[in-house]
Amino acid sequence: MTEYEPVIGLEVHAQLITNSKMYCSCPADYQSAEPNSHVCPVCLGLPGTLPVINREAIKKIIMTGLALNCGIAEQTKFDRKNYPYPDLMKGYQISQFDLPICHDGYLDIEVDGETRRIGIERVHMEEDVAKLFHRTEAGSGKGYSLVDVNRAGVPLMEMVGRPDIRTAEEARQYLISYRSILQYLGVSTGSMEEGSFRCDANVSIRPKGVSEFGTKVEVKNMNSFRAVFRAIEFEIDRQTKVLNQGGRIVQETRGWVEATGETISLRSKEEANDYRFFPEPDLPPLTVAPSWVAEIAALLPELPTERRARFEDKLGLSPYNAGQLTASPRLADYYESVLEHYTKANGASDTIAKSAANWTITELGRLSNEAHVAIEESPLTPEHLAELISLIDKQTIGSSQAKTAVESMFNTGKSASATVDELGLAQITDSDAIGDAANEAISANPSAVADYMAGKETAAKFLVGQVMKVTRGKANPSIVSELIVEQLEALK
Ligand SMILES: [Zn+2]
Repeated sequence: MTEYEPVIGLEVHAQLITNSKMYCSCPADYQSAEPNSHVCPVCLGLPGTLPVINREAIKKIIMTGLALNCGIAEQTKFDRKNYPYPDLMKGYQISQFDLPICHDGYLDIEVDGETRRIGIERVHMEEDVAKLFHRTEAGSGKGYSLVDVNRAGVPLMEMVGRPDIRTAEEARQYLISYRSILQYLGVSTGSMEEGSFRCDANVSIRPKGVSEFGTKVEVKNMNSFRAVFRAIEFEIDRQTKVLNQGGRIVQETRGWVEATGETISLRSKEEANDYRFFPEPDLPPLTVAPSWVAEIAALLPELPTERRARFEDKLGLSPYNAGQLTASPRLADYYESVLEHYTKANGASDTIAKSAANWTITELGRLSNEAHVAIEESPLTPEHLAELISLIDKQTIGSSQAKTAVESMFNTGKSASATVDELGLAQITDSDAIGDAANEAISANPSAVADYMAGKETAAKFLVGQVMKVTRGKANPSIVSELIVEQLEALK
């Protein structure tokens, strides 16, 4: 049987965060607005109206291009992409054809500890379309559709990646990295669930060692990173079966169906010339001054790879922990805020970077997954987490009590000390109290004592365990161990 190599290229649409739409002054925040309230003659596509380019959107696409190592075109222009569809108010979309603003960049991703460089062909500017709602008439059962034009004209940035991706996991990592960059730049919310970040995948396979591409299939309708991963896996598998059975791949657009976990044929794929692109006559070509690009470059914030490297080099975190904490800028901010609060209260520490990372990733990560609440949006503030870690370091509480405390704090938002008091979690360090408990454990377990006397030192551990049980884990284990051995030795 022939072995095949998958060839995958992604096209990602991201809505840009701007006050107004791409070519008119209507507000761009369409999510919470009344249907058809953010509209004007321009975005309704009425004849005789003229579009105006949104400077803020251009600035944000340049920021993205720079972060993706792209060249920024000094001369760029807009083009009409013509196609008939009810969500397209003008009958064409103002997009960019042969002169995109950003071109020839790359994105480095890490998969299984290895860095892969994925080429980026272009990032260009276009506009979003209206939203259609498909309904059924109650009595007759006839289908009809409603149109909400609020989204039409919202700035949309399309990034076209080169077909350098070879596995579904690489595709997922590439998407995660790209979204993370957009969030760090503050140019897009990057939410696949809300539709501000959408991905189409071009998937083909070819016999291993062959350089020509196979026939590609475009896959749409994936609403999560997981869906992208599953759809690509499915498509590779499907195409392999078709070829192995002597069939041929049809060039087409397929849709991912989440419920059944498969892709289905939607339509034969359009070629670019079906869109009859031509230069947009209502907008002048755009000249991007290199001095403006330099100004934007100077103001770029720290990007995920830089922050990750800083967390590894300056804070000594493992690559895994640094990657987890820097995936979202807000989580990285949360973590750094824990460090600041801790240092402010306790002075410099060699251990806080690692312990705060462990608490954030392991315990808070678990609580966040269970409650479906982002860590930084939970009631647990960085200041309170810093206080909790201080209490552990001062041995006021043990680590199992700390886990109980943090679980409560994640929901209540109360401080660490208040939670420890309320739940009675403070560690018992009083030697008299622990000594009494040790004494009781020794008298209650004569066979363990006999074992110890016979030279079995593990018997002492059993007795320590008994004391911890009686004190519900609150006794300081090192004091318990010390007193048990002391009392056993005294019996010799
Ligand atoms: Zn408008």
